[in-house]
Amino acid sequence: MMPLRPFEIHQPADLAQASDTLRELGDEASAYAGGTELLLAMKFDVLHYPHLVDIKKIPRLNSIEVTDDHLEIGATTTHYQLERSELVRSHLPVMAEMESRVANVRVRASGTIGGNLSFAEPHSDPATLLNVLDSSVVLQSTRDKREIPIGEFVIGAYETSLKEDELLTRIRIPLLQPHQRTAYTKFQVHERPTLGLALLLEIPDGGSEITSARVAVGCVSPFPQRSSEAEALLIGEPSAVEGKLDQAADVLADQAELVDDAEGGIDYKRSLIHTFLRRAYDQIIARVKPRGAPQIGGSG
Ligand SMILES: Cc1cc2nc3c(=O)[nH]c(=O)nc-3n(C[C@H](O)[C@H](O)[C@H](O)COP(=O)(O)OP(=O)(O)OC[C@H]3O[C@@H](n4cnc5c(N)ncnc54)[C@H](O)[C@@H]3O)c2cc1C
Repeated sequence: MMPLRPFEIHQPADLAQASDTLRELGDEASAYAGGTELLLAMKFDVLHYPHLVDIKKIPRLNSIEVTDDHLEIGATTTHYQLERSELVRSHLPVMAEMESRVANVRVRASGTIGGNLSFAEPHSDPATLLNVLDSSVVLQSTRDKREIPIGEFVIGAYETSLKEDELLTRIRIPLLQPHQRTAYTKFQVHERPTLGLALLLEIPDGGSEITSARVAVGCVSPFPQRSSEAEALLIGEPSAVEGKLDQAADVLADQAELVDDAEGGIDYKRSLIHTFLRRAYDQIIARVKPRGAPQIGGSG
């Protein structure tokens, strides 16, 4: 690790000031939140910026609210705040649970959800889960404000659709309906996860039929991937869907552009997708109330 090269920290009072500073300084500057990725990359001299624009003090960027049938999360909210939030725990327990398993407590205490998504490191848990929750992100600059689906935001390894003077300000997640059931499963050996797999199934009353499915896999590929073909295989009577899980896992793996890296080879990652798709599916089905039987677990 190298000693950090000198840099200047700017502390804008609001979003407009932050955006203007980023535009004026161009390639010389980067937004800076918890610093868990950025400062590490600068210590290793992989990145260098003479100017960092600290966005942590910008009002309303650190918030968790329920508005307009959405859970809205400000970009500088930390993983730890999300893990502990009563609002997240009650409205989206799958998210609180996923957040409680991100990294270690030191990283969770300073690392933000906005930093996680904006860095677009391929081993991101939130990016994978947010994909099946049909989430969107709000991007703002002095000149513009736009909201786009998460799938159009993270577009490659370390690549997003952020413009030079834009900040990710909010993440908007539609509240789950009672018939929507979710699971997030994860496998990790080293510092970052080897695989994350998120599943959402729509199972109306009685549990006799899965009417819609969303599945995304992450960490095994440059960025999280959904597969409409795999999702189609997960619709139908649960007993029939169970017989198609291996086929769905293969389709998901085929479309995911699996990467052969330090976490493992392509065949290994394909077999993990099989195991963890089944695990996520079993978790959801175990929580669904069979007709006439007492409720076993909650939704989400
Ligand atoms: C040891 C270790 C283990 C980890 N394990 C996991 C894991 O298990 N699962 C997982 O998902 N992640 C993991 N991570 C990643 C971790 O979640 C991120 O490091 C953290 O969330 C990044 O947030 P930050 O606020 O520190 O970002 P910073 O380091 O401050 O910024 C990262 C990048 O995002 C940009 N940026 C930050 N905020 C914004 C914004 N609002 N708008 C626009 N651009 C912005 C910065 O310019 C920079 O390029 C791990 C990281 C470490 C160091």
